[in-house]
Amino acid sequence: MLTDTHCHLDFNKFDEDREAVIQRALDAGIHRMLIPGLDWESSLAAVRLAGSQPEIFAAIGYHPTDVEKWEEASYDNLKALIMESGSLLTEIQAEVSPKRLGDAPGLQKKIVAIGEIGLDYYWVTEPEKQAHQRNILIRQLQLASDVNKPVIIHMREENDAWFGQASIDLLEILSEWQSSLRSQKHPRADAPGVLHSFNGNLETAQKAMDLNFYIGITGPVTYKNAEEKRQIIRQLPLERLLIETDSPFLTPVPMRGKRNEPAFVLYIADKIAEIHMTTREQVEKITTANAARLFGWGG
Ligand SMILES: [Zn+2]
Repeated sequence: MLTDTHCHLDFNKFDEDREAVIQRALDAGIHRMLIPGLDWESSLAAVRLAGSQPEIFAAIGYHPTDVEKWEEASYDNLKALIMESGSLLTEIQAEVSPKRLGDAPGLQKKIVAIGEIGLDYYWVTEPEKQAHQRNILIRQLQLASDVNKPVIIHMREENDAWFGQASIDLLEILSEWQSSLRSQKHPRADAPGVLHSFNGNLETAQKAMDLNFYIGITGPVTYKNAEEKRQIIRQLPLERLLIETDSPFLTPVPMRGKRNEPAFVLYIADKIAEIHMTTREQVEKITTANAARLFGWGG
């Protein structure tokens, strides 16, 4: 049993064959898929998909390259959605009516995280806009502790460097957040979130793990020229890793060149098994347990 803790199944690249993509994932043994939001509209789309399929879960939030859409009311709107204090969830649930009812949890239980949120200094290089990203990240971290959900963090450096100002700023913000969680004895201190599609250096990964974060591994780990990345991942304990596709992007080898989809998470699990000199079964077992612990969705 595998999980894909990061896939954008709401994107229009899946409009033609979304059901077939989901079915292939289920056939491949992927029993949990998590769709993160990028703004209000895509957060709602993620929630709709979560409502239509027992194996799909949603995260809601504003991506760093979408923070110009953040408004005064966004905090309260996201909070109302996740706390079911408005009628929106009931409306969505009525609209999507799940494929298979049975033991499917209520829609509110299927919004399991705030994300994806973070810093992107690759697409956004203007200092004032980067400062705005930091402010909105801090607001959404506050929201996560407010509603007791983990966060899904996106972090990308200028020029895709291994290390730079984005890593420095992110670690500073996350460690401040973690200290406040610890001082409140907040339950999130033990499981604050994941650095998704991690592309930083070993020191950044270690500092994030010291803050109890998980590290998300995506398709580039399978690329021929990614030896340095594999060296880093070799030094990260399996107990701190999550595997994710970031579909439709970052397609792993041997599917590289095609659109990515959750079923391909298998190739990432295989590569991690190879790097850690263990079996795929072991990688599946541990990363699936990690995801269940972080997102609280049961085995
Ligand atoms: Zn993403």
